[in-house]
Amino acid sequence: MAAPLPAPPPSAALVDGFGRAIDYLRVSVTDRCDFRCVYCMSETVTFVPKADVLRLEELERLCRAFIDLGVRRLRLTGGEPLIRPGIMGLIRGLGNLIGAGKLDELNLTTNASRLETLAAELAECGVRRINVSLDTLDPDRFRALTRHGDLTRVLAGIEAARKAGLAVKINCVALKGINEDEYDRIIGWCGERGFDLTLIEVMPLGDSGQQLGPSQFLSLDEVRRRLEQTWSLEPLALRTGGPARYHRIKETGCRLGLITPITGSFCESCNRVRLTATGRLYLCLGREQSVDLRAPLRSTAPEDTAALYAELRRAIAHKPEGHGFAPGTCPPAPAITRPMNITGG
Ligand code: SAM
Ligand code: SF4
Repeated sequence: MAAPLPAPPPSAALVDGFGRAIDYLRVSVTDRCDFRCVYCMSETVTFVPKADVLRLEELERLCRAFIDLGVRRLRLTGGEPLIRPGIMGLIRGLGNLIGAGKLDELNLTTNASRLETLAAELAECGVRRINVSLDTLDPDRFRALTRHGDLTRVLAGIEAARKAGLAVKINCVALKGINEDEYDRIIGWCGERGFDLTLIEVMPLGDSGQQLGPSQFLSLDEVRRRLEQTWSLEPLALRTGGPARYHRIKETGCRLGLITPITGSFCESCNRVRLTATGRLYLCLGREQSVDLRAPLRSTAPEDTAALYAELRRAIAHKPEGHGFAPGTCPPAPAITRPMNITGG
């Protein structure tokens, strides 16, 4: 039997300047996507040049360094993570770290366009939970919102994930006048399948301001009040270090998360940072601060882990105290110029 792995020394933990331990890394493995969701990217989006993107082995090396320094949860996102060629190799490599006791969770956020063929392999690689973006159950509305998406294929992907034993959470961006008439239906649909649901306030990122007006911002406080007329929402104490507040929907038994980056305050418990496909580390979704890790990654020999660890610690020290979103900053005046597909949510 293999010898138990030694526990990392306490000094291994990544702690920012405000005393917050960083144990959650989100990795945008590509900024590319097969959809063009209206709130995320424009039809004519320019992607980063392929030459600037880290190779998958480089991404894995960075992820492993973060894990050595105390990251216990990893989420792969994008763009659409499952369209990157070779992605299953990275997922398999990282999934092995769960078996080795070095990582607690490897999750994925996906639009589900490729999930039907990949769900079983994801489960086999150690993925246990996935978040799927689904803003509507109406095929025409889905096509209009995603510009390229095929709802039938996405629903088949979700079903394949369920069959493969993956816990599915549905992410739904709340859009005034676009899908606000559907939340009861989506809650019922999730309830029938045992899926948790998270509603997300649309954030003022990138050029979504040119596509969505301020009138499309919908406060989730308002949504919660409306839902309470139909559903019994029991607040849960569960906190994940992020912007979501959770409720149990008594009628379905499923959880409802409300992500309120605009109207909520959650920064004091933030435990996460975001790595882009080009090796840039964003310290806060709602701030522009970032640190390049590609140059130090490429200039340090793979065996010189100490030098890379030192760079990661230096980067984490730049994490700002809180985000800069405020009510009234929603489109068309984006607070952050970088679009969501760069950091992946
Ligand atoms: N392509 C994958 C997907 O759609 O699930 C992963 C990447 S996507 C950028 C991650 C999440 O960000 C999705 O749930 C999406 O709905 C959300 N998102 C994108 N743009 C947003 C915005 N401007 N405001 C709020 N959420 C946004
Ligand atoms: Fe693609 Fe996800 Fe952005 Fe939609 S939200 S365009 S699926 S990256």
